[in-house]
Amino acid sequence: MRLPLIPLTATLKHAIDRGIVVTHTARQAYELKYSWMHKNVLDGVRAFPSPEIYSFDEWLQRVYEDLVRIGIPHAQRFLITHSSLRLAFQLCAPESDYVKHVAATTRAWRTYVEWNLQRVGPDLEVTENGRLFRTWVRKFQNFQKRQKIITLADLPALITLALNDSAWCPKEVTFFGLEEVSPARQELIYQLREHGCNVSEIQPPLLESKRHRTIKFETSSRERSTLVTWIRAQLSTLGSNRRIGVIVPDLATGAPRLRSQFEASFFDCYSVDRVVNIGLGFPLRDTRLCKDVVQFLDWTTRDLGYEEILQLGRSPFLRNLAIPDAFSDTYPERMYFREYVVREKDEATIPALRSILRLCSGKKQALHEWVNRVIAILETAGWSLYKDAETQRAQAAFMLLFSELTKLSPLLGSITWTRAVDLIRNELRAQTLTVDIRNTPVQVFSREEATGLVFDALWVTGTSEEQWPPKVDLNPMIPISVQRKARVPRVTQAQILNWAKKMSEDWARMAPNAVFSFVDEEKDNADFFLESSRLLAPHKKVEVATLLEHPEVAERDHPWGSQARESLLLQYSPERGTKLPEDTTWIRTSTIRDQSRCPFRAWAIHRLNLPDRISPHRLPNVLDRGTDVHELTEKLLKTAQNRAQIDQLGSEDIAEAVNQVLKKRRRRLPAGFIDRERERLTKLAHRWIEFEVSRDDFKVVALEKKFSTKIAGLDLSLRVDRIDTTEELSCLIIDYKTGTASPNSWLPPRLNEPQMPLYSVVVPDTDGLAYQKIPATGKITMTGFADTQDQRRKLKTVPDTLGTDFSDAKAKWKHVIEATVEQYKNGDARVDPINVKTVCQHCHLMGFCRQFTDITFELETPALDDVE
Ligand code: SF4
Repeated sequence: MRLPLIPLTATLKHAIDRGIVVTHTARQAYELKYSWMHKNVLDGVRAFPSPEIYSFDEWLQRVYEDLVRIGIPHAQRFLITHSSLRLAFQLCAPESDYVKHVAATTRAWRTYVEWNLQRVGPDLEVTENGRLFRTWVRKFQNFQKRQKIITLADLPALITLALNDSAWCPKEVTFFGLEEVSPARQELIYQLREHGCNVSEIQPPLLESKRHRTIKFETSSRERSTLVTWIRAQLSTLGSNRRIGVIVPDLATGAPRLRSQFEASFFDCYSVDRVVNIGLGFPLRDTRLCKDVVQFLDWTTRDLGYEEILQLGRSPFLRNLAIPDAFSDTYPERMYFREYVVREKDEATIPALRSILRLCSGKKQALHEWVNRVIAILETAGWSLYKDAETQRAQAAFMLLFSELTKLSPLLGSITWTRAVDLIRNELRAQTLTVDIRNTPVQVFSREEATGLVFDALWVTGTSEEQWPPKVDLNPMIPISVQRKARVPRVTQAQILNWAKKMSEDWARMAPNAVFSFVDEEKDNADFFLESSRLLAPHKKVEVATLLEHPEVAERDHPWGSQARESLLLQYSPERGTKLPEDTTWIRTSTIRDQSRCPFRAWAIHRLNLPDRISPHRLPNVLDRGTDVHELTEKLLKTAQNRAQIDQLGSEDIAEAVNQVLKKRRRRLPAGFIDRERERLTKLAHRWIEFEVSRDDFKVVALEKKFSTKIAGLDLSLRVDRIDTTEELSCLIIDYKTGTASPNSWLPPRLNEPQMPLYSVVVPDTDGLAYQKIPATGKITMTGFADTQDQRRKLKTVPDTLGTDFSDAKAKWKHVIEATVEQYKNGDARVDPINVKTVCQHCHLMGFCRQFTDITFELETPALDDVE
């Protein structure tokens, strides 16, 4: 068992034996109960009553419950806390625009009531925020009267009233570690004494002050790796039942990286949760479950974009929605949930989707009825199918929130589904997912949470002169002058300094061995040296070598705990993936192309299934326009297969072909747009006919013809755009290109565009390859290689790099393509683009391959051997 963080002194034990102990923080209440239990277990006591130890807030709530039971007149109101309080403030917002300030207003409410700000009167209205707050408070107070509700902040005054009416008074109360107590709570404690309650106060038992150590780091990742290595060393020296504390300025942002570092350094533990407990909880909105549920509920009230819907489809909590991996382009770019349901064709999925649709439709209803429907919707969508400990905790937090919200249902009356989703979304985002405090040897706290605890070793981060003392954190809703006049704590620089001084002294008394660290992120700035806070000046400056027996262990920051750095990350980029499974029998042309252009790209797209997803779109993009050109030429060539016949094509033939091409778009696009497209394609058809007529005689022998073969043992099927015969050539393969294209991309050693060479290998008797380049405007051209040069010099003979004739070229291409396929089969996944300017510029994997941070592509691709 880990030793207690609050030693159970004789005074404390006596106080617990006698009656109620009220602590300043919830964490102190937890630790004090743990100390009590620890002592009883060590003493061999098997059964003992649960001690009456509460945090101040918890105690106030319990007393109020007693007053309700007694039936005193002021205690007949409904107590609202946390999310219900926020929701009540939302309902009273002066205008809907102000709802986003509800968190600050709820905090200001406590200050307003407990620091008795109503007595400062008009001063509150000297600022615009103050006036807004005053109006908001008036509305809320009317709401309180109407709905007969009371808040936690009202309880100290109400309980004081009950004391003065002699309706209630405990015999004995001990307060532990109280600090910065509000005037309302001070008055309550005073009245307890006045009415004969035996009130005592105990301060936490800290150690003698000691001279500790301060240390500076150049990076926060080095600070984390040293900290965790030091903790590991402490545990092996002191033993696993000892108490190691870590205090960080901001748990919400620092916790995930710190946890990763613990996972990296305690890699040999079954679970890092047995070693370290980090904080009391984290925002529910950071959980995947919350993000997905909120997004899905939103979808039932507004349209979402294609990517947002696909993201929902990847949710493990919404499996029954059966959202596909990709949508066809008949889907709109943005869609309502209703539209998705209407388009769904899968018989197995339709009942669930329709049932969800029914549940989120209908007339206005009470919030509790909508909440019941939300639960039914989530069940239908499959949120309970995925079960791990964190998800179950998050689901429990959802249910707790839902039950709180239903309590407020009578206050709201009938509301629409959209309003209900709005309320639920705001509340879910404001929740904290509390975690069980594990009694692990290492405990990580925020600054406030650690007060009054002791450890065997302590590490405090964020102690540079810039971070400690911290800046004044004022509530924006209350004017500064009012906060100062009412003596609200920590609202002036002097108050903050005093508080930080006391805190620094307490830290020095919380452990016999403490380290204060900070990071100097300005290390490159020669004019600026960050130092440790002057409040920690009595402590001694040290280096890593003083703290750790083996400082080299902390030198290599673990990738999980460190910032991404190019040179380091390259070490982890794999050169080779697993081999292609033996039972794979086929390969695509696009795979060969990607492998040839960049093996990593082929690996990512074809082995890891990470293709570049194209969003559904109504207006045609570049690819669609390219397809239109293919279809148009194909349709024209179906009626005219040689030069003479093409020359005879008239306006009617062209109009017919253009109409057929545009048929698929007519339903989805406005008539004006279709007319413009018709005009554009008609002009293009005329240009194309003119070009075809300018060529030497030819005959089209095949259009969109399929071929198949085996390459390096794998089946390959492909479709050739067009095959012509001419006077010189018996099989000229033509491929249409609407963008840039050059036969140079067919040159070895690596083929930038292996598609045409592949055709020459697959199609029997090929003796020419040509790109027909059809730009949107300008001249149509044809370029390529053939066995013989044609009379109009549109095609050239093969260059020397490919051999002396076309047969040589085909043999060479076959060899190169087979070698490329072999590489792919062997799992070659090198990040090795053939040309960064042409290949990487449009590659969607740039962030994944981590090769380039400079989008201008001025860097040379580094050879892997040169990488550190
Ligand atoms: S960005 Fe370039 S190097 Fe990275 S995967 Fe794509 S093609 Fe390869």
